[in-house]
Amino acid sequence: MPLSEELDSVPATTGRGTFESTDPATGAVVGVFPVHDADAVRETVERARVAAERWAALGFAERRLRLAAYRGYLARRMHELADLVHRENGKPHADAILEITLAVDHLAWAGAHARKTLGPRRVNPGLLAANHAASVEYQPLGVVGVIGPWNYPVFTPMGSIAYALAAGNAVVFKPSEYTPAVGAWLAAAWRAAVPDVADAFQLVTGSGETGAALCRAGVGKLAFTGSAATGREVMATCAETLTPVLMECGGKDAMIVDDDADVVAAADAAVWGGMSNAGQTCIGIERVYATSAVYDRFVAEVTRRVADLRPGSDDAATYGPMTMASQSDVVRRHLDDARAAGGRVATGGTVEGGYIAPTVLLDVPESSAAVQEETFGPTLTIARVADAEEGLRRANAISLGLGGSVFSGSTARAVDLARRMRSGMTSINSVLTFASVPALPFGGVGDSGFGRVHGADGLREFTRAKAITRQRVALPVNLMSFGRPPAAADALARVMGVVHGRHR
Ligand code: NDP
Repeated sequence: MPLSEELDSVPATTGRGTFESTDPATGAVVGVFPVHDADAVRETVERARVAAERWAALGFAERRLRLAAYRGYLARRMHELADLVHRENGKPHADAILEITLAVDHLAWAGAHARKTLGPRRVNPGLLAANHAASVEYQPLGVVGVIGPWNYPVFTPMGSIAYALAAGNAVVFKPSEYTPAVGAWLAAAWRAAVPDVADAFQLVTGSGETGAALCRAGVGKLAFTGSAATGREVMATCAETLTPVLMECGGKDAMIVDDDADVVAAADAAVWGGMSNAGQTCIGIERVYATSAVYDRFVAEVTRRVADLRPGSDDAATYGPMTMASQSDVVRRHLDDARAAGGRVATGGTVEGGYIAPTVLLDVPESSAAVQEETFGPTLTIARVADAEEGLRRANAISLGLGGSVFSGSTARAVDLARRMRSGMTSINSVLTFASVPALPFGGVGDSGFGRVHGADGLREFTRAKAITRQRVALPVNLMSFGRPPAAADALARVMGVVHGRHR
């Protein structure tokens, strides 16, 4: 789809001029986009509100058909979209294909499971309302605002968009100012694939101010994905209008490598988890805690594998440039801080323009920024620990808690460690796998945020529970009436004594 067509799909009322998105590898302009001001954002949300009623009224089966048409459209044009992701975000084409594949899979799951998860369900009315039927259903919120980051510009926002749409909401999406063309492509694809309810998914573009305007535009919920620092600002803005929020914030995920782990597999996973997408992955592995029994072998294996990686923008490059130039400064600061604190660079450590060499750091004190804060670059710190328990203690000792990984030869031990890891998701003997299982909820704890996308929890996240009771037969005595006989309360107390009184 040519960019001119994508631009046709964004609202005409633009407010404050335009901005460019550029290719991080070449600096070439990828697209020019309107800066939507508060009025333009409000108008878009109002159009979405009208569409939301029509979209909700379609019901689960009709929405499922349209979501299928959308994913079909995406699946038929994967290479075209992947090219755009490569140009605007910098990641290799093959990684963009993987990202789009995940998004398509989530769209399929959300569409297929919405009715079962959210549709009316009878529940036991219990003793006190035995003469009533009781049911619960999960109703859409109306319009959901989605604010997304640039690192996975298809997969990450789709974690909210697909589930919000499947639950019967309309969506207004504000992509990162670094990846608006990808956002515009996704919105234009919706209009093409679902023309009869085109306004159910719309786009607004701009910087943080446009995002703040979306928070204030009267949406039913604001789904934010980005850094914890921006998340705090978004929450504060949403608090002005008591708009509920979903916070998918950053991570500093740890891998624990136990005594009996498959060291080669763990090293392979750590390198992929830490370096793919130039380390710009919220659930990327940034810290490894390897037990003394495996530490030397693990470091050697990681270092050997890292030697094969090469950042670049050509077809053979293993990962691309930093999408956002300022992220290189954060990585440089963490490297400097680690070195100053006594950390050793086993390999890498250089930052040349937007390209950062794959970097392995050893002996970095836990208090260093490279261990405490999200680095978001192709770096790994590897620490030697006495045993997996020490690894877990250290893994859990920071404020972020998004995902994580455990490598162990014992299933029982690995599951026990995974359960006790302070994070929303943990993969055993692999990395990042939980993100590719649509039935699993995705989200963090602590500074990594709250609320869940994906899975049944992700569908419910974009709804409100509605409880309904219906009297089936009238009882001779109605306890909730001023007309009840005086002896009714005594009779009730006797029944309660029989049913519950034996418990001590
Ligand atoms: P930012 O926090 O910088 O920005 C996220 C989004 O918020 C962008 O669209 C940004 O717009 C917008 N924004 C900025 N300021 C405001 C504001 N005051 N009010 C409303 N919106 C605002 O994150 P990045 O884009 O740099 O993305 C990287 C971060 O995202 C990392 O921390 C990463 O871990 C996290 N992330 C979390 C995921 C998760 O699921 N938990 C998944 C993927 C990434 P603009 O770009 O135009 O400034």
